[in-house]
Amino acid sequence: MIWQDPSASLHPLLSIGTQITEHLRYHLGLDAATAERRAIELPGSVRVPAPASALRGRPHEFSGGLRQRVALGIALAREPKILLADEPTTALDVTVQAEILRLLRDLVYERQLSVVLISHDLGVVSSLADRVQVMYAGRVVESGPRAQVIGAPRHPYTRALLAALPGPAGARSRIQAIPGSPPLPGHLPGGCAFHPRCAFAVPGCAGEPPPLVPVESGVLLACPVEHFGARAPK
Ligand code: SF4
Repeated sequence: MIWQDPSASLHPLLSIGTQITEHLRYHLGLDAATAERRAIELPGSVRVPAPASALRGRPHEFSGGLRQRVALGIALAREPKILLADEPTTALDVTVQAEILRLLRDLVYERQLSVVLISHDLGVVSSLADRVQVMYAGRVVESGPRAQVIGAPRHPYTRALLAALPGPAGARSRIQAIPGSPPLPGHLPGGCAFHPRCAFAVPGCAGEPPPLVPVESGVLLACPVEHFGARAPK
């Protein structure tokens, strides 16, 4: 089941109750009375305060965090085993983001749920994920346990991403941006797609796309330069 930005998944003109009821009727084949009964329980299951009155509201009457909870409740209504969470904390302030992540963590344990989290926010990824896959231009370039990938990244793109994170509040260091722009789909560079932007590229990098191969402790890496020991200084 997919859980995504509520601005994309909630209809702005319909009440929350109507949207939940329609979802339950359409996807679970419930009759109107049963769907309405289930709809009343659903906001409470994702800790929406005053669930009965919440059902009468429209999305614009809710805060970003509450809309996100409602979208999560709808995604969980069919009791999926796997939840695909696509940028679940986009546009939320840090306090609300922390609440949503806490809720998601609790639901993972309560419901024995597996979550595939898609995010550009490495803070969110490192607070939630057991395993991390870093993708560039549609391909996985590094994959492994969180501690290895985030704590000791090996692929030049992963390392560049982490180096581009802002420092702690008050720190006066410049953000190290990755030079250039991501390639357009359909116009990928030959060989390693990251080579035009990679500080450690060698001529062979423009040849064949590097395969993703196991290197150590469950880590898979698509960078032969890194793999064979020409490790660039951090
Ligand atoms: S294969 Fe070459 S270009 Fe690609 S990440 Fe490794 S060093 Fe950089």
